[in-house]
Amino acid sequence: MADTIERIKCLIIGSGPAGYTAAIYAARADLKPVMYTGMEPGGQLTTTTEVDNFPGYPEGIDGPTMMVQLQQQAERFGTQVRIGMITSVKFSTEVGGIHKATVDNKTQIEAETVIISTGATAKYLGLPSEQRLRGGGVSACAVCDGFFYKGQDVAIVGGGDTAAEEATYLANICNKVTMLVRKDHMKASKAMQHRVTGTKNIDLRYNTEVDEVLGDMVVEGLRMKNNETGEKETIEITGLFIAIGHKPNTDIFKGQLDMDDTGYLITKGKSTKTNIPGVFASGDVQDKEYRQAVTAAGTGCMAALDAERYLATIETEVTA
Ligand SMILES: Cc1cc2nc3c(=O)[nH]c(=O)nc-3n(C[C@H](O)[C@H](O)[C@H](O)COP(=O)(O)OP(=O)(O)OC[C@H]3O[C@@H](n4cnc5c(N)ncnc54)[C@H](O)[C@@H]3O)c2cc1C
Repeated sequence: MADTIERIKCLIIGSGPAGYTAAIYAARADLKPVMYTGMEPGGQLTTTTEVDNFPGYPEGIDGPTMMVQLQQQAERFGTQVRIGMITSVKFSTEVGGIHKATVDNKTQIEAETVIISTGATAKYLGLPSEQRLRGGGVSACAVCDGFFYKGQDVAIVGGGDTAAEEATYLANICNKVTMLVRKDHMKASKAMQHRVTGTKNIDLRYNTEVDEVLGDMVVEGLRMKNNETGEKETIEITGLFIAIGHKPNTDIFKGQLDMDDTGYLITKGKSTKTNIPGVFASGDVQDKEYRQAVTAAGTGCMAALDAERYLATIETEVTA
């Protein structure tokens, strides 16, 4: 006898703040959501120690603990949280159609609605010293972690708009910001470049790369290398921010969902609707502007409400 394929009302792909918030709302609306956690259960916040800016934690909280609490809250209302990757999808283009997904290249699951919360992965340089000190002074989020380096000397790597914006953000808080740009020019817009060059405590270094991040348990310094002259220089810093871009986790949706030229999912107007009826996107996967846990959670809530309303509309049409 052929195995029956599981059919559910709401499939949530991804277990970051967006996915768990969608799960809380969807479960409370009786959509009986099933979540697949992906390769990083709990999402990006599990890679950071201190989350100080999520509302409701007056003393701050460490990222992994916060994500366990979100999971417990989602499970309290009946969300099924499953370890597994969605490895491919086949979305129906019909209103009320059934969407198909494959888990770990083997199990099939069918869903009336899908909420995509697969996030965006921050790019790192890949140096062993950088990887070792992630969470110990190396961060990919200046807005999240800059505050911890108030009044201190830090460095930032990158030459695009995000790097320029984060450098000026850090310059407001920190004593000095050394900015390492690999090329002999910045990719950032002229306006952003002017902001950087007009900020006194940003020391802009062109043709400069990270040779090694120094420090045992925490960042204590940086050895930089001029890629034209080969000259090396060591500076004392306590924080290193990597701002060389993010990669949205959208490869499996290519050809089915509308994306911008960098692979972020496009949602319609103020909603979380994608171009496919019944498929919604929330969190960093559809937001390259804000990329914060609280904004991800906000759009997770929106996605669950959009999914609930979509199902209600279909049920009304069927019974009318
Ligand atoms: C070092 C660092 C520190 C940060 N600190 C803060 C902070 O202090 N405050 C703050 O507000 N924000 C902070 N952020 C940003 C914050 O982590 C993100 O904005 C937030 O996690 C985005 O949530 P999300 O749910 O959209 O995606 P993510 O947290 O990125 O989660 C994505 C989820 O999707 C899953 N996934 C991906 N592909 C698949 C697949 N094919 N199948 C199944 N699952 C899949 C992953 O396993 C993961 O669980 C920080 C980010 C970093 C990198």
